[in-house]
Amino acid sequence: MKILNAQYVLPISSPPILDGAVAIDGDRIVGVGTVESVRSEFRGEINDYGKAAILPGFVNCHSHLEVTSMRGALDDVEHDFKSWLLKLNDIRSGLTPPDIEAAAILGATEGARAGVTCFGDIGRYGEAGLNALKSVGLRGVLFQETEFSPDNATASADFEKLKQRFLSLRDRGTDLVELGLSPHSPYTVSRRLFELIAEFATAENIKLTIHAAESSDEDALLLRGEGFFIDLYRRMNLNWEVPRSTPIEFLSSTGVLAARPLLAHCVTVTDDDISLIAGSGSSIAHCPKSNAKFGHGYAPLEKFLDAGIAVGLGSDSVASNNICDLLEESRFAALAARNRQGRDRFVTAREVLEAATIGGARAMGLEDKIGTLEIGKQADIAVVILDDLTQLPLNDPEAALVFSSNAKHVFMTMVAGREIYQGSPDRASW
Ligand SMILES: [Zn+2]
Repeated sequence: MKILNAQYVLPISSPPILDGAVAIDGDRIVGVGTVESVRSEFRGEINDYGKAAILPGFVNCHSHLEVTSMRGALDDVEHDFKSWLLKLNDIRSGLTPPDIEAAAILGATEGARAGVTCFGDIGRYGEAGLNALKSVGLRGVLFQETEFSPDNATASADFEKLKQRFLSLRDRGTDLVELGLSPHSPYTVSRRLFELIAEFATAENIKLTIHAAESSDEDALLLRGEGFFIDLYRRMNLNWEVPRSTPIEFLSSTGVLAARPLLAHCVTVTDDDISLIAGSGSSIAHCPKSNAKFGHGYAPLEKFLDAGIAVGLGSDSVASNNICDLLEESRFAALAARNRQGRDRFVTAREVLEAATIGGARAMGLEDKIGTLEIGKQADIAVVILDDLTQLPLNDPEAALVFSSNAKHVFMTMVAGREIYQGSPDRASW
């Protein structure tokens, strides 16, 4: 039995507890309350974090750990999304499997140090991300990504290859890490392949994630048949049919929304698209920093929340962020939502903290296990110090976390009752 106590416990499912404590037995939370009440009920090793907040570990719903070695390497082309995609693929194709695995482990370690306990990670080389999550001790869903596969004519063969790869990886899943699939996007995956993946995922209850409605280039291709990709498909002699619909309407027409995928980005969505997403029970990985770094625009966060959609936060890859820091991501999510022209209403610090924790858990179908500090849930926990100069005086712990803190203030990260990161006891160095 372990007891963690601190100035604040933020269960997220209920208001902050002053002088709070959490009791942990093995991998589970068995008590949450004031220090007094928890210590009177439980006996065990006590860790007193003092002026700090104990909260659910952060859920990073959208990452690409395997490209961590490309941090900063693509900044010169990010004004032009297609050039960015091409350069990323070009560099990645020159990396060896050990390079990619080492990058994924560094990315996972960066996450652990930032209080991330769960990743929704997409891998073209799925085994790299899977091994990284396992070796660092993180929880997550590793989504095996499709290859570039826009041709309906090769969809059956593309699907068989993907399925075999997925099945061999699924055998290597653990209690903490499960396997999913990621059809990359409406502009790189054929309609037929989307249909085949949708049938497979629905029959086998497989989690899916898809990049969707990320950029105006994607809209230009799907709505009007314009831009780089249609020219490429013509040069490849592909019979690529322009759906003349929004990316979300296109996904809906393939049947893939029935598998309730996690949709990443959703920047260029219409109100009808939001209704389709909400109605299908699909969820959203909101990636405000990556969207802004590309200049893609503002995803309408408050509309997603008000439509009842499960919304988590995603750092995206460090090739387009350039860090994995869910506190900074939540701050940016709040600031961007408040500053968006035509916004419906004001987004609060509490709402973005929820997105960084229970929202992400819901978006990944893990809300029964993680996302809040509640009795019976897994002990996935982050401890964030609250006594740095930038955080004082401390008025509201939720506001201090969202508006005054970052990954460097994370002091301890725990997954399933096991510490996977412990900061220096000398807080003066922070
Ligand atoms: Zn992405």
